Parts: sequence; structure tokens; C-alpha cells
Amino acid sequence: MANKFDVVIIGAGAAGLMCAAEAGKRGRSVLVVDHAKKPGRKILISGGGRCNFTNYDVTASNFVCRNPHFAKSALSQYTQWDFIAMIAKHNIAYEERSHGQLFCEDSAKEIVQMLLAECDLPTVEQRYRCDVHDITKTDSGFRLKLNTDTVECESLVIATGGLSMPKLGATPFGYQVAEQFGLKMVPTTAGLVPFTLHKEEKEAFAELSGIAVPVTIEAEDGTYFKESLLFTHRGLSGPVILQISSYWTPGQKVTINLLPDVSLSDTLRAMRESNPNQSLKIALSRLLPKRLIEVLIERGDITDKPLKQYNEKEVASLDAYFHSWSIAPNGTEGYRTAEVTLGGVDTDELSSKTMEAKQVPGLYFAGEVMDVSGWLGGYNFQWAWSSGYVAGQYA
Ligand code: FAD
Repeated sequence: MANKFDVVIIGAGAAGLMCAAEAGKRGRSVLVVDHAKKPGRKILISGGGRCNFTNYDVTASNFVCRNPHFAKSALSQYTQWDFIAMIAKHNIAYEERSHGQLFCEDSAKEIVQMLLAECDLPTVEQRYRCDVHDITKTDSGFRLKLNTDTVECESLVIATGGLSMPKLGATPFGYQVAEQFGLKMVPTTAGLVPFTLHKEEKEAFAELSGIAVPVTIEAEDGTYFKESLLFTHRGLSGPVILQISSYWTPGQKVTINLLPDVSLSDTLRAMRESNPNQSLKIALSRLLPKRLIEVLIERGDITDKPLKQYNEKEVASLDAYFHSWSIAPNGTEGYRTAEVTLGGVDTDELSSKTMEAKQVPGLYFAGEVMDVSGWLGGYNFQWAWSSGYVAGQYA
């Protein structure tokens, strides 16, 4: 005889644990299963071990999704303020960093402990190192063959996350379940991920590894971000690159303004006036790291000479070069280092109010497994909390 539960949740990550706690509070009997040894592994390593758990400023425009309206309902049913209230209830100290990002002051472990405390209900059972071998639809719900036994449930919640960081237990399981039940998928790709460069550029920029500069960056679709750019031995990284990577497709260029807060032409004209014999390199070294200038001047075929020798046309072309430095990445570092997976279960298949599959009553999705991916800055966890909460209210 199969063990019966009201709700089975597959995946004990951010969304799955939130969903379990909420369904359990409603008095539903809940089983959470995960193939990993422990819950919330991504939470533990997130935000450099401090977990950027949400952001003061959250709207649907902070998410990449084919349907730009889909996230609105869940984000309003469970807001960043609701999560902050939970953090406060558990006495977890937190701090605000730039762009409204909220991090634990001490450790991401506290977030996992908090979620486990919320799940500590007589109605909620958790099983780890538990594989799901088979799922079938029954008249009253679903039957799941686990490595331990067979269980049945009325509602099934898929919260198995995306493909990023396979070494932390990421699998395509959720996508396979969606396909098994005939749900459409949006093709997946790595998001919030560093760019790799073509061989020649990679070699030219390798010596800049470790240099960070504040820039603005623009994708071909017009999306832009202002944050810092980091040169690495593999290519380009830093928050600005991770952000724009979610709006980039192979073959496209990104345009980088290396001097977002000054007008280079005005600055050069003023310097030419005050110090006409100063060389361009020395003048630029007041604005950008020296090593970066050396490489850019060489790659831009720019002649270094005293400022007084630059005519207006040359000043304009220097201005354009530094303010609109265009680069075509070779690719990304892929799922190995990506923070998130773009694409996933097509949100057209799901109710934005409940997270239930429109054509499969009782089947719910929560978190990153669906085609909703947040910006860098705590948005992906907020989506996990909001969608997990909503699924927990209806499953
Ligand atoms: P997950 O948290 O990935 O949980 C999925 C769970 O399902 C896992 O426990 C997994 O073991 C389990 N599972 C998978 N396949 C199976 C299977 N076949 N059978 C059983 N169980 C399975 N976002 C932020 O907002 N702020 C941050 O600071 C941040 N930092 C990050 C740092 C890194 C390095 C990475 C990789 C991501 C970071 N993210 C951050 C993104 C965030 O971690 C995810 O978006 C979020 O964890 C998604 O929650 P989820 O519950 O949908 O999936």
C-alpha cells in the first residue's frame, strides 16, 4: 500500500522549503523529497555565504520571462516585506548593500535554519537522498515511485530548480516532468554568467585580470546596467556582465561605456587647454587604470601624442571609443558558473495566481524551474519565496 500525502514537493531548495512550510501551516500533510544529502545547498553558498535573500525594490521588471506580467501576482501575494518580516521574526541580522540588496550579516546558514524551523510542523515530513524514479497520474492525483517506497498525493509540486551548478545537485528533472505532462518549455540557457572572449581578445585582456572599473553596459535590445566590470583570466565578469548576460544571445555585441560619469571630449579639451604637452596616456590615466589604457590604446590603434596635437575629429573619435566600447563575447562560462537558468517551464502553461498547470490539475511548479529568472540582487530568491508561498497556499 502506498503512503498517502496531501502534497508531495520534489526539491528542498528555497522554493520547495517555503512551499512545504506554507502547505504544512494550512494543515496539509506534506512530504518533501530531495536527492541531495541536505536541504538548501544553493542558499548556503549564495551571496558569498551571506545569501542576498531579497531586495528592497522588487517589481516584475526585475525578471526575465517571456510573459512580462506573469510574476506580478505571486510577487504581490508574497512580497519582499513579508520575507523581511520572517527574517525579523527569527532574529536574523541583515544589512543593506548597494542597489537595495539585503544580505545576512552573519551566515546564509541562518536562512536554511529559518526555513527548516518554519517546516518543523507535525504535518511536514522531509526525506533526503531520495530519488524519484517514476511519476504517474491517478484518478485522485499522482503516484510516485521513490527509491524507498511508493507514495501517493493529491497535489504534486515541482521545485527542482534550474541547471546551473550541476555539482550542487542541479538536474533537468523538473523539465522532464513538464514534458511528461505535455507542458511547453522555453529553451534553457545560462544566465547571470561571465562572458568568455575570442582567442585574440582573451590573450590581449589576460594581463588585465583583476582590474575592476565602474561602467554602464548596453545589450542590443537596449537593456542597460550600471555596475562594475571585472577583467578575469577567462574573460569578462563582475556584476555588470552577469546582469547583461541574461539579455545577450550568441553573436550579439555589448556596448560598454568605460567612463559613464564624465564626458571624455570635454575632459580632454579642458586638459589640452591646461596642460597641452601632456600625453594622452598620462591624461587618461587620471580616469582609468594605466594597464587598461595601454591595452585599449593598442587595440584601438590610437597614437599616443601630446594633447595639443589632437584635433577635434580625433577628440570625437576618442570620445566614441571610450564611451561606446563595443565587444562581441565568444560565449559564456555556461551552467558551471551561472547563477541562474534562463527559460524553463513556459509560464503560459501555468496559472500566475496559483502556479498550477492549467491542463494538469494538481500539478504545481515553484522557483527557478519555470521561465522566470531574476536580476542579480536577491531577485531569484524573492521569486523562490513568492512562487513557493503561492504554490503552498493552493497545493
Ligand atoms: P534550488 O534552490 O536550486 O533547489 C532545487 C532543489 O531540488 C535542490 O535542493 C536540488 O537538490 C533538488 N533537486 C534537483 N533535482 C532533483 C531530483 N532529480 N530529485 C530530487 N531533488 C532534486 N539568488 C539570489 O537571489 N541571491 C543570491 O545571493 C544568489 N546567489 C547565488 C549564488 C550561486 C553560486 C548560485 C548558483 C545561485 C545564486 N542565486 C542567488 C540563485 C538562487 O540560488 C536560485 O535562483 C534559487 O536557489 C532557486 O531556488 P529553487 O528552490 O527554485 O531551486
